[in-house]
Parts: sequence; C-alpha cells; structure tokens
Amino acid sequence: MADIAKLMSSLGVDKKMYTDGVLAVATPIDGSEIGRAAVDDAASVEAKIAGAQAAFLAWRDVPAPRRGELVRLFGEALRAHKDDLGRLVSIETGKILSEGLGEAQEMIDICDFAVGLSRQLYGLTIASERPGHHMREAWHPLGVVGVISAFNFPVAVWSWNAALALVCGDPVVWKPSEKTPLTALAVQALFKRAAAKFGDAPEGLSSVVIGARKAGEMLVDDPRIALLSATGSTRMGREVGPRVAARFGRSLLELGGNNAGVIASTADLDLAARAVCFSAAGTAGQRCTSLRRLFVHEKIYSEVLSRLKKAYASLTVGDPLDPETLVGPLIDQGAFERMRYALDRAKAQGGKITGGEHVGDKAYYVRPAIVELAEHGGIALEETFAPILYVFRYGTLDEAIAMQNAVAQGLSSCIFTRDVQEAERFVSASGSDCGIANVNIGPSGAEIGGAFGGEKETGGGRESGSDAWKAYMRRQTQTVNYSSELPLAQGVKFDA
Ligand code: NAD
Repeated sequence: MADIAKLMSSLGVDKKMYTDGVLAVATPIDGSEIGRAAVDDAASVEAKIAGAQAAFLAWRDVPAPRRGELVRLFGEALRAHKDDLGRLVSIETGKILSEGLGEAQEMIDICDFAVGLSRQLYGLTIASERPGHHMREAWHPLGVVGVISAFNFPVAVWSWNAALALVCGDPVVWKPSEKTPLTALAVQALFKRAAAKFGDAPEGLSSVVIGARKAGEMLVDDPRIALLSATGSTRMGREVGPRVAARFGRSLLELGGNNAGVIASTADLDLAARAVCFSAAGTAGQRCTSLRRLFVHEKIYSEVLSRLKKAYASLTVGDPLDPETLVGPLIDQGAFERMRYALDRAKAQGGKITGGEHVGDKAYYVRPAIVELAEHGGIALEETFAPILYVFRYGTLDEAIAMQNAVAQGLSSCIFTRDVQEAERFVSASGSDCGIANVNIGPSGAEIGGAFGGEKETGGGRESGSDAWKAYMRRQTQTVNYSSELPLAQGVKFDA
C-alpha cells in the first residue's frame, strides 16, 4: 500500500519505526501487510515508565493553564493533519473514511475541551465548624497514567485520556492495540512536534509502548502507574482490574457493551430506522456502543422489520476509502469467524437470519445481519463484535426495559418514542441501567462533552467530558487555622 509511506512521512514518523520491526501490521481492506512495527522489550518499557515518572516530578509544578497550552498546540497539529490521520485510521482499522476523519475530529474536540478545563480544575470551599478555620478541597496531579487501548478506536480513546491527563499534570504511557500500532506512532510523532513548539515540555511526557498483552501487563503491574485506563474486552478487564487493585492502584475500565434500543409504538419510524442502520451496521458493528439488540413494539413490528430489511439491502459494503461505502470490512479473520459462530448459534436457537453473508473474496467483508428471535437469551446475551442485530417483539414498556437490562454489560441504550412519559420512564432510576441512555437517537456516536462509560461488566469507568477529569487527579482536603486558638472538631477537649 503505497499510501502508507506518504502518510507516515507527512505525519512525521521515522520509517524504521514501522518497517524494520517484528510486529506485522495488516490492513483489513485487503489483508496486505502495511508495516512491521518495532516492538518494545522489557528494558525499553521500563525506561519509558521511568521517563514518565521523571517527567511527572517536573510537570506537576507547571501551572495548569500552561499545561493546557501544550494540549492546544497538539490540537493544532491534529487540525493541520486531520486528513492524513483520518485516512491512516481508515486504512489500519477498515472504518469508512468519514468515520476515520470523525475519529481525528474527536481528538481535536477533546483537546479543545481540555484546554478550557486547564483553567477550571476547581475544588470546593467548605464551611468549617470551628471559628477561625476554613476548609477546602484541592485537586492535585495524580502521577503517571497508563493507557491500554483497543483496535476499534485506535487513537480517539487515547486522546480522551491523554488530553485530560496532560492538563491534570500527569504524563501518559500508551500501549495501543497490537492490531493498530501505526496510528499510535503517527499520533506520538504529532505530539512530539507540539512538544517541540511548546519549548520546555519534559522528555517522557508522552510515550508509546508497542507490543501485545505482555507489554500491557508491565503497565498493569508497575506501581509507578498511578492510574491504568484500559479499554477493550470484558475478558481483558477481568484480568487487568484485580491486578491493579492488588497493588492499590487506580483503574479506569472501559469494556464490552451489549447495547439495546427500544422502538415504541409512537416512534417516528423513519427516524428510528435510519438511526438503527447507523448504530447497528455502521463501523461494521465494531463500536463498543454498536446497537446489538432491538426491542420493537408488537403493533409496529412488521412495519419496522420491513423498513429495516429494505434499508439493510441498500447498504453499500466495500472499500472503506470509497466515499460511496457505508460498511467496511471486519478487522480480521478471527472477527469473521466469531460472527459466523454467533449466526450459527442464533440459527440453532430458531433465529430467522437476513444478511450476514461474506461479500467478495478478499479480506472479511460481510453484509450486516438482522436476526429475528422469539426468545431473549442465548447468543443475544453475549457481545459479538460484528454487525449482527437481534430483534425481539415486546408488549409493554416494562417488559422491554427488563429485557434491555437483562445482560451482563451496561454501556449504552436508547428509546425511540414521541410519548414523553415513555421517554422519561426509560431514562429514570428504574429505566435503563446503562451509563448512556438516549432518546430518539441511537446508542452509538457519543459526543466528547459528556462522561463516557458504562456499568456492570462494562467496568464502571468514565472518560472524556463532564467531571471525568477527577479520575486523573488526587483530591486533598485542607483545613487551615488562621486564628490563635486550637478548637477541636466535635467539641473534643484536650488541654495538655
Ligand atoms: P482486547 O481486549 O482484545 O484488547 C484491548 C487491549 O488490551 C489491547 O491493547 C490488548 O493488547 C490489551 N490486552 C489484552 N489482554 C491484556 C492483559 N491481560 N493485560 C494487559 N493488556 C491486555 O479488545 P479489542 O478486540 O482490541 O477491542 C474490542 C473490545 O473492546 C470490545 O469488547 C469492545 O466493546 C471494547 N471496547 C470498549 C470501549 C469502551 O469505551 N467501553 C471502547 C472501545 C472498545
């Protein structure tokens, strides 16, 4: 793929970092090799963690708005290279070009957010019960943040963490997915350019560790990693979470989802059908927030199904770099086989399958599948990272909410309705149990302004907007006595 050398050079990546190594990188577009990334050994991971720790000691004393200036410069570098980075994301992950560009835009957005935040890392002032005293809460830099990321958002997820961590005073060591190291190297090169412009950023403020699980495990077990933010499968989180907890480290887990939507009888069916197509078939079903289960009111079930089948039939599956394409390939053969396995199980459960075929003869392009199931259970309770939408009928909203919540994961959810009572019930305390609950939009495609993450086996972490920054800082409660007396709290007397 001739494109790669041009893109990597424009993004500032040294050729030998992605051509001379042992980690073979393939594009899901046609399965061809696009690079051989140099892998970090134990000594170089150790050196990067030590470098980050040294950087922390300097960076924590830099005023937060000045730290924000570095993130502003990085955002500028991203803006200048959005087209190249977006294209590289598409080539490495197989997502369509507009989504590759969208991922780069999301990085720019979080940089903007973090720059503003760098002047808003507010604490509280608290009334003291003692005369001549005041109390307040201060937020201080936490330490080195380790980021482990998944293949499907190869760079945006890192930026959600890194932009906040950097303004909060924390260096970042990043272990990207072994399936997508090239985009990580490109982002690191852009960061280096921004740091050079900034002038006096400490070395080691941002580094990338290339490797598979073993490299990730070094971050997991190292006590200098104050916060480990890990995005990926629930299997990975189940391994990582307890290990970080065993050393009393902090972890922020962003794991699998099994997201659902409800289409109520009063819904705008045209809007609902369009939203379902994007959420379930878009990104070839490889978003953590992809729509996987759909509950349709029995009164409109046939109408909704025929609209969806028609819309699915018109989806263009193919080369993600072609502007006409809406559905690109699955990441690799393993993903394809897991999709086949899920469809076989659905069939064995009595599922009626429309679509799901292998398209073409190169790489792993598939037609998104709709599976009508009579019973909510079996394979539908598992996350299969592929474009499969399980569809069920429901009678009452209580029944639909109960089914939507009856899975182990708790990431994202939505309802389509024009009835305000139904909408409010869905987002109420006894409605959706997910971290994200939407009305009249699908469960995927979140904006950076809100806190992102989910409950239950999704891991409970929150990243990106709102007050997610607090995870990257340590809270300190301060009591200051500005009087000459020494009254004790709760009226305790201790006159020595
Ligand atoms: P994965 O779990 O296979 O790998 C994710 C990352 O974890 C990779 O960098 C991998 O090298 C690393 N890793 C795996 N096992 C590890 C271990 N024991 N110790 C340390 N590191 C380890 O996931 P994937 O296939 O790349 O991504 C798909 C999954 O990620 C899906 O389940 C999806 O829902 C989830 N995901 C979740 C979110 C979210 O925000 N909740 C976002 C994107 C993806």
